[in-house]
This record gives sequence, structure tokens and C-alpha cells, in this order.
Amino acid sequence: MVTAYIGLGSNLAEQVLQVRRACEALTQLPETRLLECSSLYLSPPMGPADQPDYVNAVAALETTLLPYDLLAGIQAIEQAQGRTREVRWGARTLDLDLLVYGDQIISDKALTVPHPGMPERAFVLYPLQEIAPMLNIPGLGPLAALVSNCPKNGLKRHA
Ligand code: ATP
Ligand code: MG
Ligand code: MG
Repeated sequence: MVTAYIGLGSNLAEQVLQVRRACEALTQLPETRLLECSSLYLSPPMGPADQPDYVNAVAALETTLLPYDLLAGIQAIEQAQGRTREVRWGARTLDLDLLVYGDQIISDKALTVPHPGMPERAFVLYPLQEIAPMLNIPGLGPLAALVSNCPKNGLKRHA
């Protein structure tokens, strides 16, 4: 059994519902139990600025799926919720990123964990801190230290 963390983000087509539906879909993954989903947050877009703000959250899972099987599972959920890929970091109905997979460090192009964007992404670190304040991130160190080095950059709790 491994504890894994998934970052959720949406800025199109009823973003709050997209994130809630994705959390529900995570409960349906095989060999997996959803432990917790953070509150919802609002964040200004990363990359192209001419797109709506994002709704973000982080979920904690317990799973016996292997890392690539978990990746395939979350990609299937993105597909089911209408994810397309045109512009890098462009607007999307749903983005599910595998942030952390137990204590494993994987550096393939198709799967890098811990997710390399974590240290500079307030919309990942703050929701993650809400559900796993004592987490130690493999290769990156204590989450609390990453949070204190990452300004909120406009991140807000969703009302
Ligand atoms: P970013 O990864 O910087 O947040 P993105 O989420 O917009 O950007 P995607 O289009 O969702 O990027 O994913 C592009 C590719 O990244 C996927 O095809 C996937 O194979 C690869 N990838 C590598 N590491 C991960 C990871 N930890 N979680 C999800 N996808 C990953
Ligand atoms: Mg992403
Ligand atoms: Mg992604």
C-alpha cells in the first residue's frame, strides 16, 4: 500500500464541478481508496495569462496500483471529463497530476515524481499542506519548508 497525492486543476466548463467530479472519480479507481480531498482554492493562471483563473485542490490516495497504472487511471479521468491538449499550460477542463507516489523518485519523461513543478507552485503546496502538513517530499524535503519558500502568488481559498 502506497500513499499518493494528486493535484487537481480546472479552469473551464464549471471548474468547481469539474474538480468535485474528479474527486468522486478518484474513489472509483481500482485498488485505490481516497483518503482525503483538500478544500478548493482559486489561483491565477500559470503560463498564458489570457485564460480564466483555476480551481485547484489536492487529494490523498492509498493505492496498490503501480505508478504508471495510477497515471493511466488519472489520465482516463481527464479524458472522461473532456481534457484536450493544444497549448502548453493552456485552459483545460481538468488536469490531474501525480505529485507524490510514496517515497519513490521516478524521472522518466512520461512520469516524473515528485512532480517537478511542486516547489514553485503555491496552488499545489498550500492545498497539500492542508491535508498532509508533516509530509516529507522525496528529494525535496519537508513540505513546510517548501511552503515557506513559496509566496501565495494570488492563491485564495474558494468561498
Ligand atoms: P505540468 O506537468 O507542468 O503541470 P500539464 O499538467 O499541463 O503541465 P499535461 O499536458 O497534463 O501537462 O501532461 C503532459 C505529460 O506529462 C503527460 O502526457 C504525462 O505523461 C507527463 N507527466 C510526467 N510526469 C507526470 C506527473 N507526475 N503527473 C502527470 N503527468 C506527468
Ligand atoms: Mg499540471
Ligand atoms: Mg497534467
